[in-house]
Amino acid sequence: MEARIVTLPGDYIGPEIMREAVKVLTRVAEKYGHSFTFEEHALGGASIDAYGEPLTTETLAACNAADAVLMGSVGGPKWDGVPANVRPEKGLLALRKGMQVYANLRPCRIHPQLAGACPLRPDIIREPIDIMILRELTGDIYFGKRFRSEDRTQATDEMAYSVAEVERLARIGFEMAGKRRGKLCSVDKANVLECSRLWRETVQRLSKEYPQVEVSYMYVDNAAMQLILRPSQFDVMITGNLFGDILSDESAAIAGSLGMMPSASLGDGTRGLYEPIHGSAPDIAGRDIANPLGTILSGALLLRHSLGLEQEAAAIEKAVSEVLDAGYRTPDIYSEGTEKVGCIRMGDLVTERI
Ligand code: NAD
Repeated sequence: MEARIVTLPGDYIGPEIMREAVKVLTRVAEKYGHSFTFEEHALGGASIDAYGEPLTTETLAACNAADAVLMGSVGGPKWDGVPANVRPEKGLLALRKGMQVYANLRPCRIHPQLAGACPLRPDIIREPIDIMILRELTGDIYFGKRFRSEDRTQATDEMAYSVAEVERLARIGFEMAGKRRGKLCSVDKANVLECSRLWRETVQRLSKEYPQVEVSYMYVDNAAMQLILRPSQFDVMITGNLFGDILSDESAAIAGSLGMMPSASLGDGTRGLYEPIHGSAPDIAGRDIANPLGTILSGALLLRHSLGLEQEAAAIEKAVSEVLDAGYRTPDIYSEGTEKVGCIRMGDLVTERI
């Protein structure tokens, strides 16, 4: 197949990890007979330096014309002094909004080889953990009206959801659960919040269209606890923006290594934005020690969700797993008895195994 992929390396370690991800995707194209075109654009600090703004209309247009977008990471101390409205992170928010990606996917998988990095007791993670957290990204209390009383002693943030917003997110969740282990857990606070009651009613109504998916409902406080007590019970979790923000970071802590975690943001259609969950790691930039696996695994999500290339996506995930099995580690996931490698070498090792 032919596909146009826009790459946005971003700042500090961004270009280093992006090079490795492109290397891996190029190898996938070669091996499976696809033709991927990579078109690089500046985002964040790199775009501020080149054009005076963190996201140009040209870059956004290129992203919206591509089949998929792969991003590194943006921001860092170099741009700390710039005015708030042109900060690098503004570019990322504008990009998500401009691409209309409303569903944020955060897989949480504990690689058995890295179980030592998981803060949970070994008996809790004995059963395999493979959770997909699906967070609504463009609604909820983050986008509602804000109010502060004149005397500054009272504040209000409005939480709002529409049936349409819940439905489009939930559909992605049901479809995804159908392709995975067939279990969907919808997380809300329906015992208290009206938005959550609307959320739950909508999911209950939709569930009739997906009889093959087993649905459960959980209050968010219990979900936060269950993620720690028995994470293996979850397959796909769907939740709103606020609860998802918190639960997805909790799940990242469970997986134990920031440098390994990919993410995808999807809207209507197949175009998506893919990025590792970590930042630009200014403290280690330019030293060939960044972990490129979060970006490489984001590339696998890109193949799966935007290009429909499941076999190729699985090949990347298998290659990463094999490299870890063989004992290779970047410094952030290094432990005694394993072999320390740099960012470039890690990219090469994954590439060689595809
Ligand atoms: P960070 O994620 O960049 O770094 C936190 C710690 O994790 C650092 O010690 C770093 O060295 C380490 N780390 C992160 N990614 C790594 C990798 N791939 N390999 C090895 N080690 C890695 O978070 P921060 O220091 O709070 O933020 C730095 C900058 O990144 C800030 O400007 C922040 O705003 C920005 N940021 C951007 C994004 C994004 O682009 N999506 C996300 C978070 C933070």
